Amino acid sequence: MDRPRWVEILGVRVDDVTEEEALAYLEALWAGGGQHQIVTPNAEIVMAARRDPEFRAILNAASLALPDGFGLLFAAWLQGTPLRAQVTGTDMVVRLSERAAARGWRVFYLGARPGVAAACAARLARRFPGLVVAGAEPGAPDPASDDLMRARLRAAGPIDLLFVAYGAPKQERWIARNLPHLPVRLAMGVGGAFDFISGRVRRAPPWVRRLGFDWLFRLAMEPWRWRRQLALPQFAALAVATAVRQRLAGRPRSSEADYPSAGRRGR
Ligand code: UDP
Repeated sequence: MDRPRWVEILGVRVDDVTEEEALAYLEALWAGGGQHQIVTPNAEIVMAARRDPEFRAILNAASLALPDGFGLLFAAWLQGTPLRAQVTGTDMVVRLSERAAARGWRVFYLGARPGVAAACAARLARRFPGLVVAGAEPGAPDPASDDLMRARLRAAGPIDLLFVAYGAPKQERWIARNLPHLPVRLAMGVGGAFDFISGRVRRAPPWVRRLGFDWLFRLAMEPWRWRRQLALPQFAALAVATAVRQRLAGRPRSSEADYPSAGRRGR
């Protein structure tokens, strides 16, 4: 199965997928073997990637980049390469856990505060009978803990799907460093998904998310985020300026333009 059509937004590759297409593609990646990293760019992540070339390289080397974040849809539309849907990491954790239960995949939930990964896994297992939870624990994201974490994950046996909740860019770096040393097929950084799914943090209601205001809801729930969210107006301003420049200069980069199509990341 070919990689879906993708567009480039301020230097970061984003796949134009719906939730169903993403699920189908991930199943195909799983079936094809190898190891694959899945990322979930949003406006904050794109801005972080602009300051950090190494982080950007990790994002752009991923096998699939889900359009998680309304801001990306806005930017893609502005530059004339629209994305069809927003696919959030949190929704994908739920949908992939459902798929895993149906397929007998072994799933590991790593990260978040003590007890949260286990509560998230328990809730999903109740909802999707047959879900095989290979492990659920906070672990530790710092490189000094890598050896210990690798040993713990190896002890859990083969893992089809690993969710890592350390927030960006820690979780993406963790996966990029550790995936080659783990018996894991698909690994995805999922930010605050375990907090939401376990019910520890309230998620914005669907209508707020549809309007693109989940950032405002999150700010109300977790006011300490204001500093990080300064990236959002910067992203919007840059998206407008870039779209104008690109329209004057020619086409923006996308899989239909001159950029080489991303291949599978087989290891
Ligand atoms: N987190 C963690 N260790 C860390 C930093 C974050 O386990 O050193 C967890 C945190 O508890 C939360 C998740 O990572 O469950 C996502 O954090 P955040 O909400 O900051 O990330 P975002 O969703 O904004 O990427």
